Amino acid sequence: GSTGEFGNGKAGGGGGLVVPEIKFTKLFINGEFVDAVSGKTFETRDPRTGDVLVHVAEADKADVDLAVKAAREAFEHGKWPRMSGYERGRAMNKLADLVEQHADELAALDGADAGKLLSLGKIIDMPAAAQMLRYYAGAADKIHGESLRVAGKYQGYTLKEPIGVVGVIIPWNFPTMMFFLKVSPALAAGCTIVVKPAEQTPLSALYYAHLAKLAGIPDGVINVVPGFGPTAGAAISSHMDVDSVAFTGSAEIGRTIMEAAARSNLKMVSLELGGKSPMIIFDDADVDMAVHLSTLAIFFNKGEICVAGSRVYVQEGIYDEFVKKAAEAAKNWKVGDPFDAATNMGPQVDKVQFERVLKYIEIGKNEGATLVTGGKPTGDKGYYIEPTIFEDVKEDMTIAQEEIFGPVMSLMKFKTVEEAIEKANCTKYGLAAGIVTKSLDIANKVSRSVKAGTVWVNCYFAFDPDAPFGGYKMSGFGRDQGMVAIDKYLQVKSVITAVPDSPWY
Ligand code: NAD
Repeated sequence: GSTGEFGNGKAGGGGGLVVPEIKFTKLFINGEFVDAVSGKTFETRDPRTGDVLVHVAEADKADVDLAVKAAREAFEHGKWPRMSGYERGRAMNKLADLVEQHADELAALDGADAGKLLSLGKIIDMPAAAQMLRYYAGAADKIHGESLRVAGKYQGYTLKEPIGVVGVIIPWNFPTMMFFLKVSPALAAGCTIVVKPAEQTPLSALYYAHLAKLAGIPDGVINVVPGFGPTAGAAISSHMDVDSVAFTGSAEIGRTIMEAAARSNLKMVSLELGGKSPMIIFDDADVDMAVHLSTLAIFFNKGEICVAGSRVYVQEGIYDEFVKKAAEAAKNWKVGDPFDAATNMGPQVDKVQFERVLKYIEIGKNEGATLVTGGKPTGDKGYYIEPTIFEDVKEDMTIAQEEIFGPVMSLMKFKTVEEAIEKANCTKYGLAAGIVTKSLDIANKVSRSVKAGTVWVNCYFAFDPDAPFGGYKMSGFGRDQGMVAIDKYLQVKSVITAVPDSPWY
């Protein structure tokens, strides 16, 4: 399962430059794979080489209209919202079985499309996706309202109804997890869905559409429309017949999506955005453990993770020892082909991200931070970057404020608990935080003082479907995971009935 931290995050894959067979490259609308109305396609590239992997049908407004129409029909007249929660849960469990049965192939698809480690796909992403589905499958028959105390000769109760057609717009860093984080609770609620995967990583989402059909999820319930943000994405967020948009991505695009929702039908919006999460290490910490957790927190998935621990605050007593050991640890992260068993860190997802991360490294140097290790591209092709650590970073430097989304750690020193809290909270983001200490009092005080949606104490990346996940401040609003996430996909209706003959009034 996905409980607990990601081991040492260093498992490798197996066997050379494998390109998996790619079966699904068309749009999935109303239960069928179809070409785009325009006939256009776009390329998705293999970040290990920069070569084109395959061409995928490119959805635009016309295709989104068709997908929303199918979803609307399935919602208003189809079986899915009307079957019992138990029956929906059974179909979702079947989909979970199919994800597990095809885990190797799916991990290879994400590996070639996103540069993710093959082994981690098999042992983390695919099992976690199945677990997410099963968690919400189990919730599907436990969605119910409350009875209300309405004063006077009345009785009242609430009904929880599915919100309707849900648009899902997701990024490329965890193509599988992002898909199931949104789709699983929406399915449990009885919604119908139009998913736009990221243009960098459309392949596994199309495969899941195929598996959903095999699992008996009716046509029109899940539609997948790969394409670009300003076209396909914008068509979803501004659509007059989409009831809610669940988005994960950058704060900048989150704002664009909210604006589009505001200007169209005031659809409900939930946003899971970026982060600049602090890792706070106190003098009493076991330095080796702190080094392990903080390098994992920033180098796992090549730093392409919204909760990356990108700002590391170390208390002055252990600072020098920490820097020395962290530099050694960073050098031991082997960068290479994500399909190779010895690899710890694959390539950045594409050329844009690769150049963006290198640009931030230049900015770090120019603004006066000291490069401790890394800082350069590596390998003779593809988008590989060395694990990089800066020290002497100041709070107002660009690399301490902006999300880099790459393997770049910014190290800072602090003296007191109060100073650590103040510095931890000094960015516009509030997604996650890590604390390493043996002191219960410090852990409790800091946990309550950091403005972050998730706090990890003496661990990092410990995820579970039952632990709500989302942001404070400009990291967004609304929560994925946990029973609370289902509320994003539900309407609450109060029904109040007159009781003229009440014996109590
Ligand atoms: P992005 O915001 O550029 O893109 C995300 C998605 O939005 C993509 O599918 C893209 O096509 C779409 N999009 C782009 N422009 C759009 C528009 N005008 N209208 C509608 N949709 C549009 O983000 P990215 O660069 O792909 O992903 C990285 C970002 O995602 C980082 O900021 C990262 O922190 C964030 N992220 C957040 C979480 C979280 O849960 N909080 C998880 C993973 C990634």
